[in-house]
Amino acid sequence: MRKKFHIETFGCQMNKSDSELMVLSLSRSGFDKTDIEAEADIHIFNTCSVRQHAEDRVISRIENMRAGIKPESIIVITGCMAQNRKDKLTNGIADIIIGPYQGPKIGEILDNYFKDKTGNNFLSQSYNDFSPRIDFGLTDCKDDIAWHKWITITHGCENFCSYCIVPYVRGPLISFPSDTIIKYAGELAAKGITEVTLLGQNVNQYGMDSDIPFYRLLEKIAGIREFRKVGFLTSHPKDFDDNIIYVIRDNENISKAVHLPFQSGSNTILKQMNRQYTRERYLEIMEKIDKTLEEYSVSTDIIVGFPGETEEDFNATLDVVRKVRFDEAFTYAYSPREGTASYHFEEKLTREEKIERLNTLIDVHRSIVKEKLTARIGRHENMTVENVSKRSEEEVIGRTSLNHPVVISGGEEDIGKRLEIKIGGLRGATLLAERIN
Ligand code: SF4
Repeated sequence: MRKKFHIETFGCQMNKSDSELMVLSLSRSGFDKTDIEAEADIHIFNTCSVRQHAEDRVISRIENMRAGIKPESIIVITGCMAQNRKDKLTNGIADIIIGPYQGPKIGEILDNYFKDKTGNNFLSQSYNDFSPRIDFGLTDCKDDIAWHKWITITHGCENFCSYCIVPYVRGPLISFPSDTIIKYAGELAAKGITEVTLLGQNVNQYGMDSDIPFYRLLEKIAGIREFRKVGFLTSHPKDFDDNIIYVIRDNENISKAVHLPFQSGSNTILKQMNRQYTRERYLEIMEKIDKTLEEYSVSTDIIVGFPGETEEDFNATLDVVRKVRFDEAFTYAYSPREGTASYHFEEKLTREEKIERLNTLIDVHRSIVKEKLTARIGRHENMTVENVSKRSEEEVIGRTSLNHPVVISGGEEDIGKRLEIKIGGLRGATLLAERIN
């Protein structure tokens, strides 16, 4: 009888994308996916290591679920925590541990395990042996979103930002060959996918280890006529050159919602973070975007309370927020991560002081967002409908082409549609609109 697997994913979009790849690998090896945990023979946890809390959650989740699963079922831990905590996990928590680079081979690994029971070994990374997702084709490729696909273009990262665990758990940068990515994108278009997002820890670094630069790849993907929207995530200011901005300008279907993390507005802190750009360079990129693109939105990531951050450094961050006027910001109070360089930096701020700075930042940012969204009232825009609203079955939610959240009246039949809308008002930080086609 075919064995069933249940997969639970923690962490970032990269992990979600990796899980999708594992589902394909397992399906190809003759395993069946189930959403019912109690009937699974294999429980897979695709884990995250970005924060200690993320790792603790996985351990307690496994401990709590044991009573409700088949006694003969096995537990498999994959992803960043498998790499980072392999010694701890082999101690009775998991039956099989698979590092991030073995994900695409999980079907084969489990097949062998059930044939000869050679599990409970950490399967170490082997970069040369890594099969990118694009080799997998589209068979059985089921997504939550029928019109959109993530396309992983790089794996790993070698930037070593001092607060980040990723380079230690995912290994060095590997750019997948451009011809394979372009072929895969073409297959997606032929299957009816209309929106794609190129994905990597730092997509702007794509091709630095081989092949063509990122802006050329972006241009080629945008050249696939069936795609109405091409996005990319995540960028890094140190590698974000003008050519990328020109390609965004020259291709109507490339998203004008730019995500560019700046992390801190203080050059002292940026240096401590090993971000390899200055506040001036960041603002220069923003100025270039402002002068080159007729219309755009910008989102960012910010960390406050990094070790050594003075009041003056924090004010420099607020100053960048006021200057750039971000449409969206993912804001965090710094917390040390074991295994990273900054874990050993001396901290002077208490948790409460960091939270106070975070709240000040959030207040400044929120009032800017409100002003920016209010300025859109009365405009005609496009939106992609993503879901039925949780508040009402007669409302649907989605994103405008500048990635602003928006609500209109509608139902399930609208999901995936691209609609022309007129912005009529604001509900919190969400635009209210009516359709005009
Ligand atoms: S660019 Fe920096 S923050 Fe991003 S994954 Fe690499 S090391 Fe981490």
